[in-house]
Amino acid sequence: MAQLKKLHMTDNLDTLGQLSNIAIDLRGKSTKMLLLTARKLFMTAEEYRLDGDEEMAYISYMKYFKVITAIRQKPDYQSHKVQVKEALGDTEANRRIMDSLELITDSLSMRYSKLQKQTTALHSQPEPIRNGGCKALKSATSSTQATEYTRLGVVSCQELFERMHEKSVLVMDCRSSADYEKSHLTYVCAFNVPEDLITPGMSAGKLQARLSSSAKASWASRSIKDSVVLMDWNSKDAQPAANTAIATLLDILKNWDPDVTYRAPIQIVEGGYEYFIMMYPTHCTNPSVQAPQQNNNDIETIDDIEYPSISDITMKEDISPRDFRPRPDINRASKQAALRTYDQAKPIAEIMRDQAEFLQRAKHNDEQLDNAAKMWKRLIQQKSPSSDLSESDRQLLYKILQLENQAEDYKIENNRLRDDVERLKTSQTVAPQEVSPNEVEATRRIEWEIQQRQRRDEQYERQRQEREQQLAIAREAKKHYKPPSPPPEDASQNIESLVKPTTNGDADLDLVLEESLALQESLVFDDGQAEKPTFDRTTKPTSRPRSVEKTVSRARDFSPVEGPSMGKGLTGLKNLGNTCYMNSILQCLSNTPQLTEYCISDQYKSYISRSNKTNGQVIEEVAALIKVLWNGQYKCVASRDLRYVVGQYQRIFRGVDQQDSHEFLTILMDWLHSDLQTLDVPRIRETIGAAEKAWLDFTKAKESMILHLFYGQMKSTVKCVACHKESATYECFSNLSLELPPNANECQLSQCMDMYFSGERIHGWNCPNCKTKRDAIKKLDISKLPPVLVVHLKRFYADTSNTGAYVKKQNYLNFPLQNLEMNPYIARAESRAGTPKTYQLYAVSNHYGSMEGGHYTAFCKSAHYRRWFKFDDQVVSCLETPNVVSSAAYILFYTWLPPLQPL
Ligand SMILES: [Zn+2]
Repeated sequence: MAQLKKLHMTDNLDTLGQLSNIAIDLRGKSTKMLLLTARKLFMTAEEYRLDGDEEMAYISYMKYFKVITAIRQKPDYQSHKVQVKEALGDTEANRRIMDSLELITDSLSMRYSKLQKQTTALHSQPEPIRNGGCKALKSATSSTQATEYTRLGVVSCQELFERMHEKSVLVMDCRSSADYEKSHLTYVCAFNVPEDLITPGMSAGKLQARLSSSAKASWASRSIKDSVVLMDWNSKDAQPAANTAIATLLDILKNWDPDVTYRAPIQIVEGGYEYFIMMYPTHCTNPSVQAPQQNNNDIETIDDIEYPSISDITMKEDISPRDFRPRPDINRASKQAALRTYDQAKPIAEIMRDQAEFLQRAKHNDEQLDNAAKMWKRLIQQKSPSSDLSESDRQLLYKILQLENQAEDYKIENNRLRDDVERLKTSQTVAPQEVSPNEVEATRRIEWEIQQRQRRDEQYERQRQEREQQLAIAREAKKHYKPPSPPPEDASQNIESLVKPTTNGDADLDLVLEESLALQESLVFDDGQAEKPTFDRTTKPTSRPRSVEKTVSRARDFSPVEGPSMGKGLTGLKNLGNTCYMNSILQCLSNTPQLTEYCISDQYKSYISRSNKTNGQVIEEVAALIKVLWNGQYKCVASRDLRYVVGQYQRIFRGVDQQDSHEFLTILMDWLHSDLQTLDVPRIRETIGAAEKAWLDFTKAKESMILHLFYGQMKSTVKCVACHKESATYECFSNLSLELPPNANECQLSQCMDMYFSGERIHGWNCPNCKTKRDAIKKLDISKLPPVLVVHLKRFYADTSNTGAYVKKQNYLNFPLQNLEMNPYIARAESRAGTPKTYQLYAVSNHYGSMEGGHYTAFCKSAHYRRWFKFDDQVVSCLETPNVVSSAAYILFYTWLPPLQPL
């Protein structure tokens, strides 16, 4: 390319975008004429680009895409497809053009931003935006100058929300008056400028004359407000699509409002009313309205072809096992630094310090584990193999499982030390003259400690296997013989005799004792009744259980335990006999602020569906439970009614057998969605893309708040290796199920993602183009990212050598608490949607032990207290942030929504 031409058209992208508008109505033109125009525009654009005139190239490319869009919207487009392709090249060509345009846009926005900075400096004017504007800029930390500049024209919903508190902002909502009536901001300085009143070319005065009298008063306040922002349903950019009401209104206020001097540049609310409802539903008159399908940005309608070249696809086999080596936990942005740190040996003093600190923590865990194991041994000796575990026995077992899991994590830490020493020794062989006898001695001591730990770990492993075997025998015995449950007095006796002798002032063992006592208390409340009687429901008609009315009015039985509650949302859940998988998931959901608010505020009541399989009962039970968890009154409660309702519809959740929390979550999401699936999807455009169509097939034009929060969409692309024909299918998901890498004790979440989203060679694909079986490459991308992204780690897999048995992968997975970047894994269309791609962790469902006899807990970040807590059945305790990541992590809950303060 030639040297870049000086900027000569304008000083901002906004105006340049307006210059790219095509004045005439293209709909009336013939396809042939449009084709010729497009061809010419393309040639012109290419010439300008090669000539280095980015502004003219930008304008020509934009016009080109507008003409292409017009062609695609012609009713006879289908029959002319071949000619169109001949004249303009295939979709790959378009993809290349789009890439050129993107590069030019980036470059221009950077150059304009520089220009702007220079001018500002020159005139040394005060900062143009007051209040929030500056804050918004400051908070956009790592963004480049270019993005900062383009953000000047938009304001995020969070920022708007803050300004609303100060009443310093005037909001002009330019949706239709009907939409506004249905739902709008509950903010006193917001008003409606109906879209049908806004016509291009009119002055502010003329528009004012058309407004209602109440709107006129608000309109007049525009000169005295600190800032004025515009919103429609879902515009996201500082330059909204041309010919939309919001773009015209922006033009009127900017250029045709001579009497008013605005205190700050007028901004567009990013994502419009649609985002705002999602983030701040309680600040809208009716939070459950549905936004119409998005305004079609011209570029977005270009084919959804994903991979211009097969070589763009990272294949599964490209990811070698080597990549799963643990990487040092440092900024990976600087690859060079990473390599250096990894290869460089730690000095001996540092390793010694690390080891001393590590041993202290590990020994503390050892002591607790040893004590607990002793208690367990005594307990087992007193029992007949076929008798049931009492609640307190189970508590002890769960404690052991968690301590064991911690021991596993320490094993990995010990291995890390071993690697450190190895590296140190390697570096010492390079320069042996620099090694002092003291260092040699110290190294030996470190190695000895490492070996000691390894021996301990082996011993724990033997103990674990032994206990596992005992439990398996007990399970087998129970299958054949079902003894009566031991009465509660029995349990308390066990606690007395077992806990007291071994209590040695250790804080955590005190906790065991405390838990046991809490249990005694709950056992009294439980009145010894283990489970609600169930009857065979298979004979019942599935359409509409007769019990609907009864279940609605039924008084719920939470069997609450009064006592010092830790606070709102910090109420424990009793274990009703192996229900910790349920408790763990429910606590994660209860810490999803948007869902909790929806339940506590009773909003869900207006959207319950009664015509589905579960009759709206599941959301009712979940909402009732969340309310109790958040009233801050109880130490712990039982989720008995929810389990009863859930058990009605899915047999496996009825009994006391241990179930998988992932399976429960997936089914629960499905039911919750269907229980609330009453939102109509309005105004569907005539032409919709394949992704939207698949979404519509899934929802059947009825959506729910659960769908909006938790459901995303996956695109699966298959590309023929011979002819490069691409075909895509779409599927909705409520969680991602990721494989863990084989043969790696330690790995990163990003590595699991890389694996999941890499290409896979498939054989014998029926290529619709070649009309024969071909090799093809299959690849997944996310075509719609949900606001709450749930990631499940496939820790369990069937052992092929031992039929039916499940084996657990114990990998220590490093996952980020902050800023999980999903950008690398999304489809092209999703990358153009303005929604955030960076997620923050807020909850983890943990699993300890094996599939059959495991334990679940939840780590959740309370939006109310802004810190982490551990939810271990009925016990809720504080959790230090560094302890959130452990090898027990099983399901991760991420979100890009702002932390709400639940009611
Ligand atoms: Zn083919």
